[in-house]
Amino acid sequence: MGEGTPLGEVELAALRGGLAPSTNTARDLAATAQTPCPRRRALAVVGARTEDAAARLPGPAAPSGQSPFAITVGTRFEEILRRDGAARLREALERAVPVELGELELIDLDARHPWRPGVPRPETAAARRSATDALVAACLRGEAEADRLVLHPRLALTVTDTARDVEPDALLCLRAGRGAQPELLLVEIKAFVDHGHRTDTHDLASTRLQLAVYALAVRQQLARLELEPQPMREAVVVLRAPGSMVGSASLEEVHRDVSRLERALARAPATLSEVLATLPEGAALDDSATLSALPVRYRPHYCLASCAMALQCRAGVEEAASPEYYGSPTREVFAAIGDLRRAHGLVTGSEASETEEERELVARLGVLRRRIDDARRRCS
Ligand code: SF4
Repeated sequence: MGEGTPLGEVELAALRGGLAPSTNTARDLAATAQTPCPRRRALAVVGARTEDAAARLPGPAAPSGQSPFAITVGTRFEEILRRDGAARLREALERAVPVELGELELIDLDARHPWRPGVPRPETAAARRSATDALVAACLRGEAEADRLVLHPRLALTVTDTARDVEPDALLCLRAGRGAQPELLLVEIKAFVDHGHRTDTHDLASTRLQLAVYALAVRQQLARLELEPQPMREAVVVLRAPGSMVGSASLEEVHRDVSRLERALARAPATLSEVLATLPEGAALDDSATLSALPVRYRPHYCLASCAMALQCRAGVEEAASPEYYGSPTREVFAAIGDLRRAHGLVTGSEASETEEERELVARLGVLRRRIDDARRRCS
């Protein structure tokens, strides 16, 4: 693999080894956008399922992100919204979209270009991408004869020099959006319940970040097709109305999430070669030795909420008595020592300080320890 050479499908598959490809790359990319962890990023870039990688590492496995029940409800909700020419989805969109929706032409790319056994996936993927390109170009060039609701459009996205595809749930192509200009609106369907201002903010935030990934893909698509950039400041999120399978749609601002994602990606390695430069030749990520060789940056707040490998990584830093186990600010306080067993020995006086940093830390923590000892004596 040459330095700076983008990887093709075959090379990505070789790097994944036996790991299954991630089925929702946008969600994975959104989750990894903020991570400083090379292991997590390498898996995201080659499009491998983090859960599969976690299963190969020794140690306890974290429960995977969504419960089977949540997955079933999600699939059923989307199926109901798409039934009868997407009647329920249209109803929900009419209430949320800021312009009057005329007669919407429904274009279901699952029906036009289904994934068929025997037909190579890249062939179907390419057909779906070019159909999406044609629909978007027709809308923005004013050549479409109707407003369109495109189900499962497929967009190419290049991140860390590697191309992959992402599929939003839907894309509205409006001939006369706001300002009477052609407008694209991304649509994401989620089965969690819309409780108005009490809706789970964490779920909404991760949905917005996922939409930001799609917005970035649309930007790249428009640049590739030499079309005018679109602001993509907002997108439609369709949730479940309480106690029903009816869609409750609202317009969500995503422009801050797009900026956040762009900043995170700008800080990330520019090429996968950079990420994998530390690996032996021919290494594959389904080998636990390869995974273990990649450095981790354990951050409890992020890892426990977002990564299937969290329990293994936590066990690793615990075993090493690393201050990273507790996250910030413990990590910063003990950075000069890096080993909590040694820090304990220094502060309790069973070990002697050897460096200036250690002496400084002992001086700082010694005051704290004396206060705690005094407090204990007063309370006992
Ligand atoms: S849990 Fe481990 S692999 Fe996942 S992001 Fe955290 S440190 Fe990286």
